[in-house]
Amino acid sequence: STPFGVDLGNNSSVVAVARNRGIDVVVNEVSNRATPTVVGFGVKNRSIGETGKNQQTSNLKNTVSNLKRILALPASSPDFTIEKQYFTAPLVEKDGSVAAKVRFQGAQTEFTATQLEAMYLHKLKDITAKETKSNITDIALAVPVWYTEQQRRAAADAAKIAGLNPVRIVNEVTAAAVGYGVFKTDLPTDKAKIIAFVDIGHSSYTVSIGSLKKGELKVLGSAFDKHFGGRDFDRAITEHFADEFKAKYKIDIRENAKGYARVLAAAEKLKKVLSANTQAPINIESVMNDVDVSSQLTREELEEFVAPLLDRINVPIEQALKTAGVKAEDIDSIEVIGGCTRVPSVKAKLAEIFGKPLSFTLNQDEAIARGAAFICAMHSPTLRVRPFKFEDVNAFSVTYSWEKDAEDNDHLEVFPKGGAFPSTKMLTLYRTSDFEVDAAYTHPEQLPKGTDHKISHWKITGVEVPEGSDSAIVKVKVRNDPSGFFTIEAAYIVEEKEFKELVEKDPPVEGEEEAEPEYKIVKKLVKTKDLQVAYTGHALPEKELAELLEKEFKMVADDKLVAETEDRKNALEEYIYELRGKLEDQYKDFASEQERETLSKKLMDTEEWLYDDGYDAKKAKYIAKYEELASIGNLIKGRYMQKQQELKDKLRSKQEA
Ligand code: ATP
Ligand code: MG
Repeated sequence: STPFGVDLGNNSSVVAVARNRGIDVVVNEVSNRATPTVVGFGVKNRSIGETGKNQQTSNLKNTVSNLKRILALPASSPDFTIEKQYFTAPLVEKDGSVAAKVRFQGAQTEFTATQLEAMYLHKLKDITAKETKSNITDIALAVPVWYTEQQRRAAADAAKIAGLNPVRIVNEVTAAAVGYGVFKTDLPTDKAKIIAFVDIGHSSYTVSIGSLKKGELKVLGSAFDKHFGGRDFDRAITEHFADEFKAKYKIDIRENAKGYARVLAAAEKLKKVLSANTQAPINIESVMNDVDVSSQLTREELEEFVAPLLDRINVPIEQALKTAGVKAEDIDSIEVIGGCTRVPSVKAKLAEIFGKPLSFTLNQDEAIARGAAFICAMHSPTLRVRPFKFEDVNAFSVTYSWEKDAEDNDHLEVFPKGGAFPSTKMLTLYRTSDFEVDAAYTHPEQLPKGTDHKISHWKITGVEVPEGSDSAIVKVKVRNDPSGFFTIEAAYIVEEKEFKELVEKDPPVEGEEEAEPEYKIVKKLVKTKDLQVAYTGHALPEKELAELLEKEFKMVADDKLVAETEDRKNALEEYIYELRGKLEDQYKDFASEQERETLSKKLMDTEEWLYDDGYDAKKAKYIAKYEELASIGNLIKGRYMQKQQELKDKLRSKQEA
């Protein structure tokens, strides 16, 4: 499988692969280097990515975007209410999590955010498999640094439902920093450089401070503003025009979803123009009630609307510096990515806070996907990549607990906040029988509201107390794994065994006889039995995953059939026009009067059928109709071709003579 890295952006997603000894960004079916993160539902099929985006304004209620914002979002989270404003499809609660309700194939259907993300990832996988002409299975998927265990598990589940193998879930900015570390050739080998990575995208803003040496990255600290991005700028502009149009044209776009969506789209364009110009127009025909609107905006006005946002831009920087334990003046370079950092006032503020000019070494739009593809390649057993080590920071303290038995404690904070991961620790418990272990966030009050403080639960079975002992010594290998999951990797029983060990002695002094070898008895713990570890937690159970995968693949097959049917229908229509034209023209002398009449009639009938009963027929029917016409058409074509060949041969023999 070709290593595959995905930056699933809130606005658009970028895909990269490792191939030809490098990292390439993959273009989609219309040759774009980023694909809109949109899933649309229709009467017959789904429209994902570019097609979904194209149909968005005419299918608002059944188009879902902002996928990463609702992935495993607890319905009790205050973010649920916030996110609702950005969605045009209704959001509902399903089994405690947020789902979208859409009309699909004629019925109201609810899809969980995990399913929606799976649909989208499946599309990216298909685009990539097609472009690279290779098998795509392994994926390194980038996620926001603020994702909790629950959201990371959901991201991995979404990949699995799409038929992918998530080899690693990685923080977005960390992926970009890895890309930086791998491809920047002049990093020092001794004293590390301290680099701030800033990403402001469509929906959120992240700062990570990294320490970089040649071949090595340590993330020292990260902070974020979950509600700060380009979409907030667009909304501020749209709200301004909503007021202006109300006064000026007596229309209320807030009452008209389609009108609002069109102004929002125009606002985004306007915002981009204002990054390069100081003033820009907005013109929309028939935005609602047949009213055309036009206006304009200056860069200063935009800056005024987003002032409340810009006033908070220092917060994540200060927090990240604090957790990293560095000062702004210690930063060697500020590497900036994300589309929203193209806004001049954003750039100016960032530079002002850091007190240094910004650096744009990384590709603003592609850095995360590239880093992720490299990380995926690192995990490939067959590919050799440049050696690179990296570690990230754990965002929340995590405690493992168990029911007290023969040991002294019933819990331990194994992974403290700010600790590095991946990281493995060994717990030693003294047990008299099978037992259970829980992992949970140590400080629920520090978590985003609504987050389940429980992480995972394990049943550990197979415990046997060795003869002559009061309890079994159980070693539990726990891990904050490369994806940031909190796991139990293994559990086993150890016993103290006695070993005979040679006592080391000084070499004999010359002349003396070599002393008899002497042995001592040493006691060592050795593994005597593996225990079974059964996990339950936020990851979907195998059975449920298998069902969702089956559903997803069925929908993909349906979509494919719809597309093929449409192709056959178009082919039939084209053939009718082609044949009709040729019958009047080059085929004219090669068909008898009667043939021409029959064929003309057939062409007319088929055309009528196409707009009537045949408007919505099965694929096989279009093929049959095509073949019916072709059976006569090809006969005439055959005669025509034969004549052409004869003429050609004649010409050649003339030339040769
Ligand atoms: P997120 O990182 O929040 O998941 P994303 O990765 O999809 O979202 P990006 O692609 O980094 O986001 O950035 C998209 C945002 O950048 C959009 O809001 C877009 O309008 C904005 N943007 C892109 N180009 C410009 C520009 N020239 N001027 C201003 N804003 C821009
Ligand atoms: Mg992004």
